[in-house]
Amino acid sequence: MATLVWFKRDLRIADHPALARAAARGGPVIPLYVAEPLVWSHPDASARQWRFVAESLEALRRDLGGLGAPLVVRHGEALDVLRAIHAERAYDHIESHEETGLLPTWIRDREVAAWCRAEGIRWTEHRDSGVERHLTSRDGWAARREKLMRAPQAPVPEGLQGTNLAPGDVPEAKDLGLGFDPCPGRQKGGRALAEEILATFLHERGEDYRTDMSSPVTGETGCSRLSPHLAWGTMSVREAHQAALARAAETKGSGTGWSNAMQSFKSRLAWRDHFTQKLEDFPLLDERCLHPGFEGMRPEVPDADRLERWAEGMTGLPFVDACMRYAKATGWLNFRMRAMVQCVASYHLWLDWRHTGPVLGRLWTDYAPGIHYAQSQMQSGVTGMNTLRIYNPVKQGHDQDPTGAFTRKWVPELADVPDAHLQAPWEWDGQVKGYPRPVVDVADAARAARDRIYAYRRQPGFRETADAVVARHGSRKGPRTRRPARKRGDPRQAELPL
Ligand SMILES: Cc1cc2nc3c(=O)[nH]c(=O)nc-3n(C[C@H](O)[C@H](O)[C@H](O)COP(=O)(O)OP(=O)(O)OC[C@H]3O[C@@H](n4cnc5c(N)ncnc54)[C@H](O)[C@@H]3O)c2cc1C
Repeated sequence: MATLVWFKRDLRIADHPALARAAARGGPVIPLYVAEPLVWSHPDASARQWRFVAESLEALRRDLGGLGAPLVVRHGEALDVLRAIHAERAYDHIESHEETGLLPTWIRDREVAAWCRAEGIRWTEHRDSGVERHLTSRDGWAARREKLMRAPQAPVPEGLQGTNLAPGDVPEAKDLGLGFDPCPGRQKGGRALAEEILATFLHERGEDYRTDMSSPVTGETGCSRLSPHLAWGTMSVREAHQAALARAAETKGSGTGWSNAMQSFKSRLAWRDHFTQKLEDFPLLDERCLHPGFEGMRPEVPDADRLERWAEGMTGLPFVDACMRYAKATGWLNFRMRAMVQCVASYHLWLDWRHTGPVLGRLWTDYAPGIHYAQSQMQSGVTGMNTLRIYNPVKQGHDQDPTGAFTRKWVPELADVPDAHLQAPWEWDGQVKGYPRPVVDVADAARAARDRIYAYRRQPGFRETADAVVARHGSRKGPRTRRPARKRGDPRQAELPL
């Protein structure tokens, strides 16, 4: 009987425990990718993401073909496709990785599991990161993750026995109903590029990682830029972690910045799993505030004008607009600036993160729901577990774009504005043509937001709930509080974050 390997966000053959397991079992292997309307019609999905995936699928097809079993691609809902393939070519095992997705994929998995049980098919899900299912406490999580990151990688199969199933075409973005989405600076998909990017980061670009990462100007080359490859799995997080360990060992005592850079890089890889774990434990992360006391704080119906101006890079706040336009054109932004644009939307413009989160999610080629919604909530002050941080976009502009070249490039309307006024052109006496006045007064809006947030924080019971959120979702770096988490067994449990 055959084994079906279900590829999702793991588009590679290296360090792929599910594929390695299928190969070790012997017999025919059906490597399958399903382009699911369930996933690609979600408000966070975009054509730029799909194009990255499509390029990665073509590369994966070549790699699997080299092993003897080319990738099979189908367009349809997962259960329908699994059924149809089973009717055409029976299989008795499915191997895949554990996926941590939003609630619809969670429900889809339950349906697939039920069908497998009814058909006598054994579906085994393997771990692909530090994220743990059915986690009852964060205690010891970091140490267990580190052990997994240091464990030997899954071997690339020497060869696979294929089937005669038609390979199927990789759909176009329009076939999936994804709208017009030009992104001229988008990173391209495929395993070879993941390897190249990692190599140049580790040996050429990464030495000043710690300082370069703060600004979009230096971050463009100084950050690893691995995010879309990690998000769609053309490289495993363990591969990146082990490569960083090896580079740190190689450069130890060299008096260069590499050792510190590798330490910071590994921390960020760990954050990736830390934030994704939150979604694993709380599948409604895109729908409910982690701290329920913040529900209803921002208007349910957004101010349409503010939302549109922010999304289009027309807030009149130059550095914010430059960052939004840059993200639109490239599909990427460094962490600090992602935090700033989210923060301006949530605090200064007082828009609910549930309206702005999908706008940003669609912009990122590296969209990963666990990281994205954990960060959206965090930068909007609704987790109850983080210190309130309201970025001043004018100060950020001065600090992160000191020459003003980035702002001028992305907001050419400011060509005539002298350097001294570039980040606050409303203070300049001259006339700025074709560029709006700021949508809000930065200082007043930040003050009003802070007051509103603190008013919510003073509500009775707020602190107790916040402690429980920290116990459930917090890393264990600070003081410990214990509280058992609920199991993943029933999505309704996720209605309460505790
Ligand atoms: C509002 C908001 C939304 C975000 N949405 C996403 C998203 O959808 N997908 C995504 O991959 N990252 C997201 N991030 C995190 C971060 O901005 C990106 O991972 C980073 O900018 C990607 O560039 P890089 O690969 O060069 O990062 P590097 O700095 O080189 O980091 C290496 C890797 O570590 C992980 N990482 C880095 N920073 C973080 C972080 N703060 N939290 C969790 N993991 C991190 C990523 O996998 C990244 O590729 C978001 C941040 C914010 C503030």
